[in-house]
Amino acid sequence: MTRAYNFSPGPAMLPEPVLRQAQAEMLEFRDTGASILEISHRGADFLDVARQAEADLRTLLSIPDDYAVIFASGGATTVQALLPLNFAAPGQACDYVVSGHWGKTAIRQAAHCVEARVAASSEVGGFRDVPPRSDWQLSPDAAYVHVTANETIHGVELRDIPQVGGVPLIADFSSSIASEPLDISRFAAVYAGAQKNLGPVGITVLIVRRELLQRTGQPRAPIFDYGAQAKADSMLNTPPSWNWYLLGLTVRWMLDEGGVAEFGRRSARKAALLYAAIDGSGGFYRNEVAPAARSRMNVPFFLHDPALDAAFLAQARQAGLVALKGHRVLGGMRASLYNAMPEAGVQALAEFMREFQRSHG
Ligand SMILES: *Cc1c(COP(=O)(O)O)cnc(C)c1O
Repeated sequence: MTRAYNFSPGPAMLPEPVLRQAQAEMLEFRDTGASILEISHRGADFLDVARQAEADLRTLLSIPDDYAVIFASGGATTVQALLPLNFAAPGQACDYVVSGHWGKTAIRQAAHCVEARVAASSEVGGFRDVPPRSDWQLSPDAAYVHVTANETIHGVELRDIPQVGGVPLIADFSSSIASEPLDISRFAAVYAGAQKNLGPVGITVLIVRRELLQRTGQPRAPIFDYGAQAKADSMLNTPPSWNWYLLGLTVRWMLDEGGVAEFGRRSARKAALLYAAIDGSGGFYRNEVAPAARSRMNVPFFLHDPALDAAFLAQARQAGLVALKGHRVLGGMRASLYNAMPEAGVQALAEFMREFQRSHG
């Protein structure tokens, strides 16, 4: 099969120029006489890759100087476990606003060592909306407020994240980072596993206000200490160097394509196209998320008759549209429209959906 339009929620589609460059440099990286996979992370060649990736990410996301950027392994879930250890005292209250699966995961990773409070949740409604700010019960003594910017499984996006007062705001941006301009200074910390919008799985970015790193937190091994990681430029131990390199190529590609403002415009057009195809189908397809909370990145949708699901997936695959199967907790379909997904891919999907409806309607 030739390269398809890949709607995978993550690990997700990567830009073809990134894969081509990585392929070319796989055997011999610059003039090292070795693969990028085979060189020391302490050597000048890799340090150049690592520093350039950070510099480019700072440019792409307009990261202020008083924020550290940490490149970690262990995925976003490990960040969720380390946030309370680094930034809360034992048993201290931490507020979580829950708008889907990943907000619940964040609580599960924290609850053993802090009082992880559900400040607001849209779970009773099946996570088809974000909890309105007026329902958030925030405690002024909380160590931080945690929100999920985009719920990858439920397809719910919390945009224009509201003010939370003086308590540090921490946001999981795993599936929407770099998809539109973002004012980092509003957050004490922002984190994202790279495998949705920043590159490959195996590396996670934590952007954290340096002042937050002064917190005592809780007893933890040095390797779990974000202050120590920041001081050591994320190289307390061997970092995931290949993943870091691929992230750097992906970030460079985003800058070359026009940066987050351009991806904001593309994301809006792609999402509008797909939601229009769903809403215009007269009920053949449906998306159940409240219109104002619909994700631009992950679009879950259902066929009016689930008995058609298997045929839809099989024929989509034949049309070069892959990884559309929905998450097992929701069923149905899900199309993920990260930055590497071209608009032509979404047009092809919308056209396929109309064609499938014509032949099965
Ligand atoms: C994918 C995802 C995670 C989990 O990431 P891992 O790297 O698998 O730990 C957490 N939060 C959100 C919003 C995600 O999309």
